Amino acid sequence: MLDNHNRNIDYLRISVTDRCNLRCTYCMPPEGVGWIPHSAILTVAEMIRLSRLFAEMGFRRIRLTGGEPLVRKGVAQIVRGIKGIPGIEKVTLTTNGVLLAEQLPALLDAGLDGVNISLDTLDRAQFAAIARRDELHRALAGIHAALAVPGFNIKLNCVPSGENDAQLVPIAALAKDHNVAVRFIEMMPIGLGGTQHRRTQAEVLAMLEESFGGAIACQQPDGGGPGEYVTFAGFQGKVGFISAMTHKFCHNCNRVRLSATGFLKTCLQYETGADLKALLNAGASDDTLRAAIAQAIAQKPASHHFSEHRETEGETRNMHQIGG
Ligand code: SAM
Ligand code: SF4
Repeated sequence: MLDNHNRNIDYLRISVTDRCNLRCTYCMPPEGVGWIPHSAILTVAEMIRLSRLFAEMGFRRIRLTGGEPLVRKGVAQIVRGIKGIPGIEKVTLTTNGVLLAEQLPALLDAGLDGVNISLDTLDRAQFAAIARRDELHRALAGIHAALAVPGFNIKLNCVPSGENDAQLVPIAALAKDHNVAVRFIEMMPIGLGGTQHRRTQAEVLAMLEESFGGAIACQQPDGGGPGEYVTFAGFQGKVGFISAMTHKFCHNCNRVRLSATGFLKTCLQYETGADLKALLNAGASDDTLRAAIAQAIAQKPASHHFSEHRETEGETRNMHQIGG
């Protein structure tokens, strides 16, 4: 559906849990957080019902995220339920990869169309420092399991923080050897991300060009997203940049987010949206829910103001709570 800024909003990201098996320094405090009780989280049936309403309103793609989506039991059941909704074209997942190898067969059987796997470093000690868990071997097992599936749509997401500078070329090189998109995501000042150093798109590109030669502009792998993509001579895959800070893409924004507690969040920076869980708890009809969704989307903010030093007026929660 169109919002008040004439953008076609057809992409929903659902956070299926706020919980996680890692503690990335830019996303979660070391001590973890007080988890939200199960009773406050959307049930599988509620997620599928809301997805159907979104599909009826023109949404075509749904991504499951978190927290870490694979720590929630029954994610394959959610994938299967959403895939069966008329109008839904793609159901994808964003994961840290730790539990992916063991769950991938069930997810593929349920109809999962693609996976984004986060990978900030290939160095075991550095992974343990950034994620505060010694789990690189399992994350890599997840990546290799996904790579072994013929034709499966895989993107690797890396957040350059200055700390992992030496890893950016080896991570980008995965797109040389495999037909995947390796994407560098600029650190956003959301929650703990605001306390971290950020490497910009220009800085990362300069590092890559020094190793791989001049970048060649190319099309996005699957269209519709905010990234700018390049490739390099001899690469099978692509390298993308998701640069909310230095290359603001709000004018093309096509997405809204549903938090694990059922809050429909229409822009990463703002609290604006609709509490769909409260409506569900009150026994709202499909018409009432659709009206609340339509009203929230119509009022989607025109853009974030992260780069205008107005960061504190907006989102103070971390990405695991919002659904990255
Ligand atoms: N746990 C899953 C994972 O790590 O892929 C899914 C949720 S995580 C919040 C989604 C993505 O958000 C990850 O790629 C993570 O690196 C990214 N992320 C978290 N905090 C961020 C921040 N402040 N700025 C930019 N990206 C961030
Ligand atoms: Fe967990 Fe993903 Fe946040 Fe890391 S970025 S703590 S894996 S939710």
